[in-house]
Amino acid sequence: MSTRYDAARAELQASPRTWLVTGCAGFIGSNLLETLLGLDQVVVGLDNFATGYQHNLDEVRAQVTPAQWSRFRFIEGDIRDPDTCGGAVEGVRHVLHQAALGSVPRSLKDPITSNAVNVGGQLNMLVAARDAQVQSFVYAASSSTYGDHPGLPKVEDRIGKPLSPYAVTKLVNELYADVFARAYGFQTVGLRYFNVFGKRQDPDGAYAAVIPKWVSSMIRDQEVIINGDGETSRDFCYIDNVVQANLLASLAGPGGVNQVYNVAFNARTSLNELFTYLRDILGRNGVAYGREPRHGDFRAGDVRHSQADISKARDLLGYEPRFDILGGLERAMPWYIQFLR
Ligand code: NAD
Repeated sequence: MSTRYDAARAELQASPRTWLVTGCAGFIGSNLLETLLGLDQVVVGLDNFATGYQHNLDEVRAQVTPAQWSRFRFIEGDIRDPDTCGGAVEGVRHVLHQAALGSVPRSLKDPITSNAVNVGGQLNMLVAARDAQVQSFVYAASSSTYGDHPGLPKVEDRIGKPLSPYAVTKLVNELYADVFARAYGFQTVGLRYFNVFGKRQDPDGAYAAVIPKWVSSMIRDQEVIINGDGETSRDFCYIDNVVQANLLASLAGPGGVNQVYNVAFNARTSLNELFTYLRDILGRNGVAYGREPRHGDFRAGDVRHSQADISKARDLLGYEPRFDILGGLERAMPWYIQFLR
């Protein structure tokens, strides 16, 4: 079945454009980079390696042809510097703004730096992109914006109060985007990602996301700790679905821009279920994990349940997520086993 995504990819390949991916050495940014280069696009990447890695760029290089790689130009720089942002958008038609400091616990520990990067950095990028008159500006928003709103599934226009400094920064991103449309006629698209997972997501460090952290613990035969009773649930979203949403949002017509969209699969998986899925899939891939998980404390700033209504992205962007959590884990597993050992 041909979808809007198939059409978008064909359109891009037929007439390549120039893109800027901020945060291109990170998890989501490097996956966007890989897809864009694979579609013969010209890509400028901006990253300061705060949480991204050269090895992510090296992996992308290994996945594309030398001709495709030659269409990539990397700028090592900081989005907190307006001149760097101004230089990065020169000649660019589509911006995918992913650079930020992720993680709720990181923002609780150091709210000042999270704010400077996530809020100040995005504002610099908005100004630079507005001045360069880029055609589209898509930015990474977050499901954390739902905060303490109890409603399920999450619908874009019903949000609560933020539960962490990180969530405040992501809400402010949306507010600035909205004001840029009102004040300057500069229209953007915000994508509220819900717990993204896939290859190149960092498994290490205090702020690692649950899936790469647990998979690496299981592969290394270390203890897995579940925060709380394990009934906390999330709408885990495989990276390919996120890449799809970014491309569709970049090509959206007037009816699709100046909006914020949930980007998820529209399912809910508890941490206890996730543990079982990972153990089973690893087992089928030849990695046996015999330990039981240990339950620790609930984590500060975490919401209890999260699940997205994705009908807005379906209706206005033509978003059709292709991989549910199990399909995504199956696809990501060879990478986890190769790189997380
Ligand atoms: P990541 O940490 O892997 O990638 C972020 C990238 O931004 C890194 O390469 C980092 O070096 C770069 N960066 C950080 N500060 C920078 C600065 N000052 N200047 C230039 N580059 C800088 O994280 P990710 O998971 O790929 O997240 C990408 C975006 O998606 C972020 O905006 C994040 O808030 C958002 N998001 C992610 C998730 C998720 O589940 N991964 C969920 C919601 C929102």
